[in-house]
Amino acid sequence: MIFIGWLMGPKDSFLLSCAVGGALCGLGLLLYGFYVVAPHAPIAVLAFAAIMTGLSTLVGAGYRFRTGRSPRRLIVLTAVVSNLVALPALLLGYTGLGLVPINFTAAALLFLIAGQYWGARPYAPAAVRGLCLLYATIGASFVLCGIMLGLDGRPMLDGAPTGWAEDLSLLVMVACVPGIGAVTLTLNQSRLAGELHRAAMTDPLTGLMNRRALFDAGSASPVAAETAVIVFDIDSFKTINDTHGHAFGDRVINLFAASITRHAPTGALVARLGGEEFALVVAATSADQALRLAETICQTFAQNAAGLGVAGFRSTASAGFAFGVAHGTTFEQVLNEADKALYAAKRGGRNRVMSAEPRLFG
Ligand code: GH3
Ligand code: MG
Ligand code: MG
Repeated sequence: MIFIGWLMGPKDSFLLSCAVGGALCGLGLLLYGFYVVAPHAPIAVLAFAAIMTGLSTLVGAGYRFRTGRSPRRLIVLTAVVSNLVALPALLLGYTGLGLVPINFTAAALLFLIAGQYWGARPYAPAAVRGLCLLYATIGASFVLCGIMLGLDGRPMLDGAPTGWAEDLSLLVMVACVPGIGAVTLTLNQSRLAGELHRAAMTDPLTGLMNRRALFDAGSASPVAAETAVIVFDIDSFKTINDTHGHAFGDRVINLFAASITRHAPTGALVARLGGEEFALVVAATSADQALRLAETICQTFAQNAAGLGVAGFRSTASAGFAFGVAHGTTFEQVLNEADKALYAAKRGGRNRVMSAEPRLFG
């Protein structure tokens, strides 16, 4: 199921690592099943090598989920170390005590997997905790098997080990493994949904919030009297596109995005409304501060535009701003007011900032 999930979704190595890890563990358990029926030590070695490598791959999958980074090196390192620690005693023919390091190493790997997901718990707390619990429960059952084999103390056994700890471990695996598969798929789905949501809220050209995200955030609460909404529009942008081409126009838009981001106070909302129009929402500010901020952004943009390296190229922007009211008003209302001020700035000759109040600045 996980492999099919990987095939059908975006090709992220998280689900692929889970599928490969799960498949290797499954292969190992199948080989171990053969060993139970016909106890030839080489089969057990192969079985446990597959399980150690599979669990190491699952450690990598957890790492990928937690960090988003490639898990390849970690998988190789973990697989090499775990096989080197777990297998030598069994390779020397100790089919009894030789299984003690195998059980403890497998348990350590399972706790490591749980640890990787534990680090990602702010992301989806309930699902991640559930996954950690499932992995750690299997790990605990392996610890019990290791302890019982150690207490038994026989270096070699005639066949596969038996006893209540082995039975319990089998039961725990039957109970937990399907849960691990289901929660893994759920986690992946919710992460994909989160990524889609982020993409739907982000302007692809500038990486700023888009209009929808701004309206969502801005409409969350009434706009207070000390909150300024500033809208910007690059002057005569159509001419820039027509003269220098659309790609150059995009560079200019990005330049404005950089100017607004550079000066936006911490906590301000910065968005590209569309085309060459931007909005900045600043809380706890005054008319003078909003004016200065808008002017600084427009000046920075004009200076940077002149430095773009195209002979004779100049570009300016205009802005308009408005404030909320004492008992709060809708975001849309304040944005409309700011828009009117912007168009007054355009009519007034461009390259200037105007307040929604009938006062001309700049
Ligand atoms: P004004 O000074 O009155 O603002 O004039 P303007 O030419 O800037 O205004 P107008 O709204 O007529 O032009 C906006 C142009 O922006 C028209 C459109 O083709 C262009 N545009 C919209 N989105 C993009 C984009 O993503 N990239 C580029 N390069 N151009 C865009
Ligand atoms: Mg425009
Ligand atoms: Mg314009």
